[in-house]
Amino acid sequence: MRAILLLLDGLGDRGVLNKKTPLQCAKTPNLDMLAKEGMCGIYKAYKEGVPLSTEIAHLLLWGYSLEDYPGRGVIEALGEDIKVEENKIYLRMSIASVKRDEKGFFILERRVKDIKDNEVEEILKEVPKVIDNYKFNMFYTGEGDFILEVGEKFDRVSDKISDADPFYKNKYVLKVKAIKEICKDEEYPIAKSTAEAINKFMKCSYNLLDNIEFNKKRELKANFLLPKWAGMIKKVESFKDRWGLNGVVLAKSKLLKGLARYLGLDFIRIDSLKEGFNLINELNYDFIHIHTKEIDEVSHLKDPKEKIKAIEKVDNEIKNLKLKNDDLLIVTADHSTPSVGRLIHSGESVPILFYGKYVRKDKVKEFNEISCSEGHLRISGDELMYLILNYLDRALLLSLRPGGLYRYYPENLEIL
Ligand SMILES: [Zn+2]
Repeated sequence: MRAILLLLDGLGDRGVLNKKTPLQCAKTPNLDMLAKEGMCGIYKAYKEGVPLSTEIAHLLLWGYSLEDYPGRGVIEALGEDIKVEENKIYLRMSIASVKRDEKGFFILERRVKDIKDNEVEEILKEVPKVIDNYKFNMFYTGEGDFILEVGEKFDRVSDKISDADPFYKNKYVLKVKAIKEICKDEEYPIAKSTAEAINKFMKCSYNLLDNIEFNKKRELKANFLLPKWAGMIKKVESFKDRWGLNGVVLAKSKLLKGLARYLGLDFIRIDSLKEGFNLINELNYDFIHIHTKEIDEVSHLKDPKEKIKAIEKVDNEIKNLKLKNDDLLIVTADHSTPSVGRLIHSGESVPILFYGKYVRKDKVKEFNEISCSEGHLRISGDELMYLILNYLDRALLLSLRPGGLYRYYPENLEIL
């Protein structure tokens, strides 16, 4: 038996068209058929009202907790195939264009994408490699983006630091600071000195890059290295150990690749759902997670009508998904991405459906936020994998204790 989780990134939305969501307005005969024959409901990865990033929503969806999150910088580094080491921190960093004035560094462009390879080479050569006891190592990953690795001579480095990148337009570069609230007692001074070293790194890099030869010819100077999302690797139970399932992630996104690597899941890059659906036939895994970002990306355009089109396109592709007789199919989203308003992601729950051999069939006939709210399920991220184990007939009776496990009945138990 296989569980196939079809994840439609950013599917959920608000009442944007005469109080209806784009999913309600879209014509989705294939999703509706699955809803009609299956069991539906409402799902939230974390808490009602809390917007989540894709990687945190996925971590929770696969049955892990916020304590297992190593910081986005680590997930990004893993997604770029960088060897992530213990006792070092990893940050995403872009080459930005800034104008210095009496207040600070005003950001003209957060990410200079048209940077040429020879310019990148010069940046890598010129910027400081060591400041105080801190060692800075940069990996270029394309389109003006880097991964920054920071280590310290005596491993006195902490990821409990804030971002320099303000994320929004027309802002100044922010001072990196230690975040006291999330530091354990002994970590705060270490976080403070890490933050100070990164502030020095940024200023020092600016002084070098602002006067570098290639910038004299550029219209928009590439003169500032702008880091964010510090993270440090954690020891985490693998997906296989946690759930007893051989799992694979089919996705285009490097972020999903990084998260899959972090949890020991296999990863296959696909360019489209169509490619993924064709592959699924041949895959011999217990758990197949197939992900599309198409709907989420369109949602960011803040045009609900475009979102409807994207949903209808995905629905049309779903007819190419050929299931085996005993496959369990789950369709849901990681979070809502509102096609109106200012939020990047929003905190409304999303619809979910289970379709398979012994799944209870409820009265829901359409797959959308409102119809599904009249269905059978109300589940959160910490319950979803248990329900999947349950329908795969692998759930463990709670009082049994075989081989030191408590979530699933293992296949190979050690014999006395
Ligand atoms: Zn997402």
